[in-house]
Order: sequence, then C-alpha cells, then structure tokens
Amino acid sequence: MTDHDTLLDGTKTAAAIRAEVAAEIAALRAAGVTPRLEVVLAGDDPASRVYVGAKAKACGELGIGSHTHELPAAVTRGELEELVDRLNADRDLDGILVQLPLPAGLDSHAVLDRIDPAKDVDGFHPHNVGLLQQGRPGPVPCTPAGVMELLRREGIEVAGRRAVVVGRSDIVGKPMAMMLLHAHATVTVCHSRTRDLAAVTRQAEILVVAAGRPALIGADHVAEGAVVVDVGVHRVDDLATVERLFPGNTRKLATFSSRGSVLAGDVDFTAVAPKAGRITPVPGGVGPLTIAMLMANTVRAARRRRGV
Ligand code: NAD
Repeated sequence: MTDHDTLLDGTKTAAAIRAEVAAEIAALRAAGVTPRLEVVLAGDDPASRVYVGAKAKACGELGIGSHTHELPAAVTRGELEELVDRLNADRDLDGILVQLPLPAGLDSHAVLDRIDPAKDVDGFHPHNVGLLQQGRPGPVPCTPAGVMELLRREGIEVAGRRAVVVGRSDIVGKPMAMMLLHAHATVTVCHSRTRDLAAVTRQAEILVVAAGRPALIGADHVAEGAVVVDVGVHRVDDLATVERLFPGNTRKLATFSSRGSVLAGDVDFTAVAPKAGRITPVPGGVGPLTIAMLMANTVRAARRRRGV
C-alpha cells in the first residue's frame, strides 16, 4: 500500500482550485457577469462523451453557464466552421472548447485555428501556443497547467531540477515541457523514437508521463525518490491485465467485478509507487486537475474579455 505522504492527491488539489474559482465566479456574478463556456462535440467517441459530460457537470456545480453542441460524425468542415464563427460572434460567450479527436477526415488544425484566441480556453490556438512559448500571459493547455498547479501546491521544488517528459503531443507533452522550462527545470522530452527510454527517465527528479501506453513506465524507469506524474488514462476491461497491473489490489478487483473495467495509467503504479518519492494515482491524479484548470481558464477568459 502507498502511504498518504507519497500519494499526490489530484482530487484534493482540484477541490482547492475549484473552491477558489467558485469564489471568483461569485464576485463576477455580483458584478453582473456570468462566465459562459460552450463545447462542441462531434461524433460519438464514448470517451469524449464522458469527458464532455464531466466538464458540463463541473460548470453546473461552479455556476458557469454551459451548453454542449452535439454534431453527427458526418458533420462537414464547413458546418463546424460555421458553428465556431457563430460562437466567436456571441458577445456573452467567454469560452469555446472543441472536443478532440474530431471524426476521421476533419482537420482539427483548421477548426482550432478558427476559434477566437480570446475564447480559446484549451490554449490550443497557435496565437496562444506562441504566447506560452514566449512565457507571456494567455490561456494555457489545461492538463499541463493542472500538473504545474499540483507541483506548486504540494510544495515540490521545480527550479534547477531535472525533469523528463515522456510524450511530445501538442496537448500535453510539448506544453508540459515548456511550462517546466519556464519554471526553471532542466527539461528532457522523450517520445516514441527515444532510444533506451529507461536510461533517460531514470535521470528524472520529476517525471511526467503522457505517452498513451498502459503501464509503459515500470520500476526500472524511475530513480529512487523521484516525483512521478502519470497523465495517461486507459480503460482496462480484461481481468488478466487487471491482475497483472494491480496484483493483490483488492479495491481494483472489486471495481472490476462491479463495473467490468478499471482505469489505469501510463505508469505501472504497483511497481513504481514503492520507489517513487511522490506519485499520482489513476484515477484521482491528473484527470480532476484538468477539469479544474478548464474552469479557471474560463473565468480568466471572462475577466479578460469583459474587462472586470
Ligand atoms: P498522443 O498519442 O497524442 O501522444 C503520445 C506521445 O507519446 C507521442 O508524442 C509519442 O511519441 C509518445 N510515445 C508513444 N509511445 C511511446 C513510447 N513507447 N515511448 C516513449 N514515448 C512514446 O497522446 P496525448 O494526447 O498526449 O495523451 C497521452 C495520454 O494522456 C493518453 O493516455 C491520454 O488519454 C491521456 N490524457 C489524459 C488527460 C487527463 O486529463 N488526465 C488529458 C489529456 C490526455
């Protein structure tokens, strides 16, 4: 079992962030402004539907106005662009989020580039990517921003430390590396072509893993005492894999028998936790932070846009 001092509890930190955001929303509402976020969900990817549902629920709980535009998988680029244009023009709307991935055949860059950068609460527009690169204020991607908040609020020193990021996606890996760099870490980015991954990740004092490969990171990949942040999320629905990934973990087995699946990360938690100094679980690690930061980005966009 991992003791509580080792576990980095994302749910707890997310609750603290949400409480602060709720107070900001109350102040905005008192000034006559209700922050508003609208989500575009195209197609019927089941995981996207779950994420969008969680975002809408968080908006409802915090007092952010929200609406989800559900579009069929056969939606055309023209129809999507028309919707984005309409949302850009809506003066009472602060945040636009186009849930990825888009259905096959649709160019996500073309759609994301069309969003008004001031309403880009995901921080994916090239204008905002450029601001992040230069270390200037602007909306930043929610998942890496959540990881930075977790490190900060848990008092984990970043400046001067060796950080390794596994994954180089535009959504997680690259902005994560940039944020760690701005926080004065010495940053290495690994990816699918990295030779001898374990040799590189063992150098990390802070290891952030966003590779999308279940249990990619084992005990051999991690230095004694390292801080390990697991961004990966995978639904595991066969018993043999659950037993292999979580040997002797009666809670996971009970979840599997009641729900038919469990969540796992990119890190083999059972193998790595005894070696890590601090480690995030899956679920209850990075996921809740992503949603909390989306709420924070929406409120920030409302303040900036409306000059409150
Ligand atoms: P992606 O598929 O776009 O990128 C994966 C990256 O990992 C790529 O850059 C690839 O080069 C690298 N990679 C793949 N296999 C590797 C290997 N064997 N060794 C080293 N590097 C390897 O994925 P993404 O969108 O960045 O997401 C990564 C994971 O994080 C996924 O599991 C996703 O579900 C999860 N995720 C979670 C949240 C959250 O809120 N918790 C948010 C976003 C993504």
